[in-house]
Amino acid sequence: MIQNLCLDIKHKKVFEHHQTEQICRICICEEETSKFIAPCKCKGTAEFVHQECLKMWILEQYGVNKIYNDELYCEVCHHKFEFDADFNDRFDIKQFQRIKKRTKLCWLIQMFFIILFIFGSIEIALGFGINSLATVAIIVVFGLITVSLTIYLIFNFSSAHTIQMIENWNFQNYKPKSSASLPKKNTKKITNQFIRVNQIYFT
Ligand SMILES: [Zn+2]
Ligand SMILES: [Zn+2]
Repeated sequence: MIQNLCLDIKHKKVFEHHQTEQICRICICEEETSKFIAPCKCKGTAEFVHQECLKMWILEQYGVNKIYNDELYCEVCHHKFEFDADFNDRFDIKQFQRIKKRTKLCWLIQMFFIILFIFGSIEIALGFGINSLATVAIIVVFGLITVSLTIYLIFNFSSAHTIQMIENWNFQNYKPKSSASLPKKNTKKITNQFIRVNQIYFT
């Protein structure tokens, strides 16, 4: 009887130990390198996952579309992941190095034509005056072409330097109460709040 009681206590301790033990199901690491979450119905060794590991896995697996459409499901238990996220476009001048040479060449040619039309209009206005209707018509046409080319160039330039960002992306635990029972450890702060998720290229 006493032996059974001792065994029961021992089993209970082992059970409790396994209940609180957290191992990331992606990187198989016990260290809390990022917040441990239990985002779905999976139990046992598959219950917990580092939030950052889950994010990286989702991005590698699905890209951004399923995040935008709020269609993220656990592959094992098919529970829908609940999360909050803000989606923003951000201008990043560093993207210039990544842009293809032929795109940069196209921009240069456009700039050349813009300058050519501006100087052409000035030359025509100075040479022939703006009294003639034909001269005015040519200058107006040159002006419209210049404005169109400039808008097109600015649009292409800013689009090529725009990166889509997900900000404040946080998953919710499947059972909100279970998060309160998770042992609190000192977590390493994730300084990078932004995750680059996509790159737009214009050819
Ligand atoms: Zn992990
Ligand atoms: Zn699951």
